[in-house]
Amino acid sequence: MDDELVQLESDARKLVDDYVVTAPYKLNPDSNHVGKIVKSLAKRKLKNGFFYCPCRMLSDDKETDAKIICPCEYHKEEIEKDGVCCCDLFVSPDYKPASTV
Ligand code: SF4
Repeated sequence: MDDELVQLESDARKLVDDYVVTAPYKLNPDSNHVGKIVKSLAKRKLKNGFFYCPCRMLSDDKETDAKIICPCEYHKEEIEKDGVCCCDLFVSPDYKPASTV
């Protein structure tokens, strides 16, 4: 099971890395955060069968849930509006992390 999770984590990492090669977005510059989301995506795939968004609830409806497979149906609108997707994984090209001062 641990080996499977490690493999899924690597698959999830590839998925998000590949996505930003062609998408007009980039990954959150906070690599710790990206690592946590990638891990959560892997856990979701292990438990639920797909890379479901770790920041959203699953329903009992497969069609509804298909909309939240990463990269989900909602991230473009969220990034356009807020500069980040719901999980803060993908961000707009001009994203600046909030100042911690
Ligand atoms: S909110 Fe972001 S991390 Fe979550 S599924 Fe959508 S694109 Fe992926």
